[in-house]
This record gives sequence, C-alpha cells and structure tokens, in this order.
Amino acid sequence: MSSPPTQLQVVLADMVTRCCLGSCCSSRDYQMLKVEEVPEMFQEPYIYSGYRQVDRPWSYYLRSIFMLHNESINVWTHSLGMFSVLYSLLACLRNLDLQSENHARCVLFFGVCCLVNLALSAIAHLFHSKSRWHHFAFLFLDYMGVSFFIFGSGVVSMFVCSSKPFHNLFSSWFLPANVFLSWFAFFACVYAKVKLAYNNSHRKGMILAGVVSQAVVIALPTAWRLVECVLEPTCELYHLSHLIIMFFMLIMCGVTFGCHVPESLWPGHFDILGHGHQWFHVTAVLAMMTQMWAIDVDLNLDQRAKQLQQPGAGELLVFLVILVVIESATVVYYMRSVTDTYSEASSQSLLGKDTQVDYRDAVNTEGDSQDLLSKIIKSVEMDELHGKKQTEITEKHKEE
Ligand SMILES: [Zn+2]
Repeated sequence: MSSPPTQLQVVLADMVTRCCLGSCCSSRDYQMLKVEEVPEMFQEPYIYSGYRQVDRPWSYYLRSIFMLHNESINVWTHSLGMFSVLYSLLACLRNLDLQSENHARCVLFFGVCCLVNLALSAIAHLFHSKSRWHHFAFLFLDYMGVSFFIFGSGVVSMFVCSSKPFHNLFSSWFLPANVFLSWFAFFACVYAKVKLAYNNSHRKGMILAGVVSQAVVIALPTAWRLVECVLEPTCELYHLSHLIIMFFMLIMCGVTFGCHVPESLWPGHFDILGHGHQWFHVTAVLAMMTQMWAIDVDLNLDQRAKQLQQPGAGELLVFLVILVVIESATVVYYMRSVTDTYSEASSQSLLGKDTQVDYRDAVNTEGDSQDLLSKIIKSVEMDELHGKKQTEITEKHKEE
C-alpha cells in the first residue's frame, strides 16, 4: 500500500495537471497526461503522471523545456551539467599545452566526448515523445552519446592515466579495440530497446550488462595501477584515492541507472521531482567532473602521461569517425526495421480501423497470432483512450 501524497507533491501535481504556469494557463500545451493516457512505450515504471502529449508539433516539445513534466529535470540536469563539465575540462586544461602535448589533446578529446554525451541526452529527453518512431530514433541518439563517453574514457584510461606496463603491452591495438567495445555497448542498448522494449527489467539488465562489461575492460589500464599498488609493499593506496573516488562515482552511475529508487518504494510520489533517472543524470555529471579532477590530480602528481606514448589528434578523429559510421549503420538497420514494422502493422486492417499498432506488437514475431491479435486490440484501446483525452483537452480549451 502506498502512503498518501504530501502537500508538496499535491501542489506539484496540481501545477502539472492544471497548467498553473503564469499566463500560459489557458493553453492546452500545459495539460500533462496520466500514465494510462499515453501509449505503453512511453510509460515509465512507477511514474504515474506528468507525461507530455504525443504527436504534437516540434515547437511543443521545444517549448516543453520550460514546462513542468516528468522529463523536465532530466533535460535540465544534462543541459546545465554541460556547463559544469566544461568548467572542469577548462580547469584540467589550464596547465596543459594543446599545441605540443599529445596527452593534452587526449584530455580535450575526452572532454568533448562528455559534452556530446550530455547534449545528445538532453536532446533525446526533450524530443523522444514526439511519436513512437521518434521515441526510438532519439533514444538511439542518446545511446550513441553514451558510447562516445565510453570511447573517450578509454582514450584517457590508456593514454593518460594508464599503468606503464599495461600501456606498453596493449596500447598499440587499443584504439581499434576501443572502437569495437564502444560499439558493442551501443549495440547492446539498441538491441535491448528493440527486442526487450516492454520488459523494463530485462531491458535495463541487458543495457547494464552491455555497458558495464565494456566499461570495465576500458577502465582496466588505469584500474591496474590499484592492483600494482596492492602488490607493492611500499605503495600506499591513499596516494591513489583520486582514482578510487573516480571509480566509486562511475559505479554509482550504474547503481542509480539500474535502480528505480525512490519511486519504486513510493510509486507516484516522485513523478516530477526526485525519481531514479534524475539521480542517475546528476550522478553521471558528477562522475564526469570527478574523472576530470582525477586526471588533473594525476597530471600534477607525477609525470606519468609524459612517459606514455599517445596517438595524435588525427588518429583519434579517424577512429571516432569509424565508430560514428558503424553506429550510424546500426541505427539505419534498426530504424528501417522500425519503419517497416509500422507500415506493415498499419496495413493490417484486422479491425477495420486506420490506426498505428504499437511497435511491440509487430517486432514480437515469436508470439502466436492470437497473442498478436490481443496485443493489437489493447493497442487500439490505448490509442482510442489517448485520442479521447486529446479531444477532451481540445474541447476544454475551446470552452475557455
Ligand atoms: Zn537519461
């Protein structure tokens, strides 16, 4: 049994559902929907309200950056987070010479990957409700950003902060391996989204397994220094406390992403403010800032980076372009599948209705026809409910 909402939650919900945002009160734009009023693919576990309307003009989603809904904080945390990470990057670069030091360019490269990741995430959270097709497209863009972050992290892990013996052994083939590992993490996210879209725990489990396993491999060059320190009697672990804090923050990213806390404990109470994905966003920004700080400490404490051989900026860009190309090909492949499925499903006038069935219904070809039919009926009912709600809002707007 969930406890009744607090006064603050009632006020927030009221602001969302009654559109109490200044002079814009009369606009239907500010009418947010309850979970049962949006198609299933947009429903988030334990989030019961604050959903934006689907199939509205692009300007509606752009303006929604100033509205209060269940994606507002997700957009703002990564938009503002970009400035925090940029500040950390500039602080880290202040003592480095980008003209002559290759390791400085590796740090800059990593910083740009972080910023691109945050920008793509903010864009995805802002626009993914546009339609079912766009929901997939923007989430794939978000996953691309994550893979760029993994790729950039790998570059600094191997070429700036690495254990020297580890670097000597593996650095020559690290960049192609980094491309493959980053792509694989991306592929795991895309595959989980397409094939497990309606089983949230399985989907999140696969995304975590894909991303974390690749991230662990990429972290190894730096993490190996902790192992060396433990094996070396004269080494004190607290000298590497900056690396321990950095790894702790990265682990916290995985924890906050995987757990729907606190909303799973008090469903419906954190729809707008405080749900787990918002904490994940904040943790991700803090983790990036911690990485910048750890790199800065490392560069100031010892001359390690100067003893390591780094790739040039051109080489880094070539491998990044290769990553972008193979990820774009993956997106094109799966988006064609999404588009084909919609067209095919729409042409199945099983019920004599001109309606788009849910993407889930068509991709799940393993189910029997009876199961497919029941899913289509459910999807049509959901669309009708959604349509009714939109009509109600329009009529209400006209009355005003
Ligand atoms: Zn996010």
